Amino acid sequence: MTERHPNAWAAEAIRRVREDGSHLLPTPLRALSLPGVPGVDIYLKDESAHPTGSMKYRLVRAMFCEAVASGALTADTPVIAATSGAVAVAGARFARLLGLEFTTVVPAKTAPEVLAAIAAEGGRWQRGEQPPAAAQTEARALAERLGGHFLDHFTDAERAVAGCGGPTVADEIFDRLGGEPHPVPEWIVTGAGTGATSAVIGRHLRRDGHPTRLAVVDPENSAYFPAWASGCADYATGMPSRIPGIGRPRTEPGFRPALIDLMIPVPDAASLAAVRWLRTAAGIEAGPSTGTNLWGTCHLVARMREAGIRGSVVTLVGDGAGPYRSTHLDPAWARERGLDPTPYEAAIERFARTGHWADG
Ligand SMILES: *Cc1c(COP(=O)(O)O)cnc(C)c1O
Repeated sequence: MTERHPNAWAAEAIRRVREDGSHLLPTPLRALSLPGVPGVDIYLKDESAHPTGSMKYRLVRAMFCEAVASGALTADTPVIAATSGAVAVAGARFARLLGLEFTTVVPAKTAPEVLAAIAAEGGRWQRGEQPPAAAQTEARALAERLGGHFLDHFTDAERAVAGCGGPTVADEIFDRLGGEPHPVPEWIVTGAGTGATSAVIGRHLRRDGHPTRLAVVDPENSAYFPAWASGCADYATGMPSRIPGIGRPRTEPGFRPALIDLMIPVPDAASLAAVRWLRTAAGIEAGPSTGTNLWGTCHLVARMREAGIRGSVVTLVGDGAGPYRSTHLDPAWARERGLDPTPYEAAIERFARTGHWADG
């Protein structure tokens, strides 16, 4: 093996990480029109277009850049994560790109499709002990034992994206809206998992002085809405969210309530209904968190319509339908959990057609 200076390795690693998937950027901005509300243009920023199919790809790319730049990752550092989600899939991809070993500690009950997605990117996993909350502790211990780097997205993603350079999701939204009839949106709507995406958008709005307001939608059981509404920075529910990627049992360090103008709690059945409607009405196949985004977006569009405001609203497709076909997108899965999307689906269909909610 040729001896290389660690800085040469680092520069090459950062170049590779930045270049991966760059031919797919900017991700598409899809227009969605509601016949019942002709004065408002809705746009969906499609983050499922990244190589690993999820918006987590952006966060993990930034975390690898930051870990290399800060010296935490070198040519022989194993990378450890504590999730079975989209962070693990993206983490496995970037680790392989740099020739590093990747292991993630996953909950004992993780579905085989999810593990297959991690394996397809060259990652390994290890089943955690119960309860799922202990996975973080276990992953940290593993990282320590191996002399590895723990990829801690809840703590590091927000700072990494701010420091990584290159266009953010917010830069891409405003660039692309430049040529549209309403180039400065009234609202941008997103969910919060790590909180990094909402923080990146909120920082951008302040930096560029846009009057656009930031709305964050929140699923059942999440600590974020009560934390924002009560001003209690360490609010915890202790209950896991049923909508993958968003909602947390406790307030995570990357969540920045001061940047958020409005939080909208969304029933889980409404999230499932909205994502079903999106497929039927627009042919867009998205994951459940996109339904949460869309439900919140419709409420804001209804407010605009009532106030006689024309303009645009932007929200995100966080990931595609692929990982959820046998779970969230399967009517039997919803029924077994006592979730009935039917009335919500009728409401959103009527709103799109007439501009009125069923009760108003
Ligand atoms: C992580 C995630 C989010 C939330 O993004 P954060 O930047 O972590 O707050 C939303 N949707 C999906 C599908 C996600 O995976």
